[in-house]
Amino acid sequence: MAATLMEGRPLAERIRGEVAAEVVGLGGIGLATVLVGDDPASEIYIGRKHEAAAAAGIDARDVRLPPSTTEDELLRLVGELNADDAVDALLVQLPLPAHIDPDRLARAVDPAKDVDGFHPENAGELYLGRPRLVPATAVGIMALLAEHRILLTGARAVVVGRSAIVGKPVAHLLLQANATVTVCHSRTEDLARHTLDADVLVVAVGDAEVVTADMVKTGSVVVDVGMNRTENGLVGDVDPDAADVAAFITPVPGGVGPMTIACLLQNAVRCARLRRSGTY
Ligand code: NDP
Repeated sequence: MAATLMEGRPLAERIRGEVAAEVVGLGGIGLATVLVGDDPASEIYIGRKHEAAAAAGIDARDVRLPPSTTEDELLRLVGELNADDAVDALLVQLPLPAHIDPDRLARAVDPAKDVDGFHPENAGELYLGRPRLVPATAVGIMALLAEHRILLTGARAVVVGRSAIVGKPVAHLLLQANATVTVCHSRTEDLARHTLDADVLVVAVGDAEVVTADMVKTGSVVVDVGMNRTENGLVGDVDPDAADVAAFITPVPGGVGPMTIACLLQNAVRCARLRRSGTY
């Protein structure tokens, strides 16, 4: 392996320590999470968020609702949490049961408490180049790149995946950092033509090893967001052999994953600061 591993855990640990100090400085902050239904993966994610929040001294409320919860009932609860002054930051875990419209939900969360950055107002601010509350995975990717002093100005960045949760926000942040950004997706023809051109390649597809080593430019920086459960365990979207070609690469697990949770806590602090200072 030639590439330097961009490990997420040490940086995430540091960020979580900084968050804990800020929480003390703010006299405590409150986070509320809402989980509808009993999706096992969602239960694991919510559990990890609460573990991390508790370790950072964040007062976290874990609201669980049955799968039969109606959209109106959920919207009513979100309204109550929006109005609750003890709640600085609020998230509703995705995916939601099929009978609940995630877009309606995203709009219902107070944009000032929108710790996930999914509200159209926050997405719009990012689009306009004024990032305020940005989805944590995208923030975490940028923090990892900064930690390794990856030069972005003028770099050719290629993002594979265009979800509102990862692909689009990270593409906007890279653009803001003055990279020249290409976004690829399932209808992109000849994906390798684009990936081979990338100085910085971010892959967020959800398909095990969709990017093979021969699709990676020599000496490039590769960020693998994918988390795919296979019979060989948890694997990314990029073939690990890409480490023989790239200069920097994130491991899976232990790369982007830990950064997402740390940056979610950072966003919670940001929510508290923005709201309490009235600067939102
Ligand atoms: P989505 O399913 O919402 O989006 C996947 C994107 O990949 C879509 O834009 C889709 O294109 C594109 N795509 C699908 N197949 C191909 C292909 N063959 N070639 C090029 N593009 C393709 O997923 P998410 O963005 O939510 O997540 C992506 C991955 O990242 C998943 O593995 C997920 O588990 C992981 N993840 C990891 C996190 C972490 O903390 N490490 C956090 C969040 C996600 P189209 O739009 O055309 O359908």
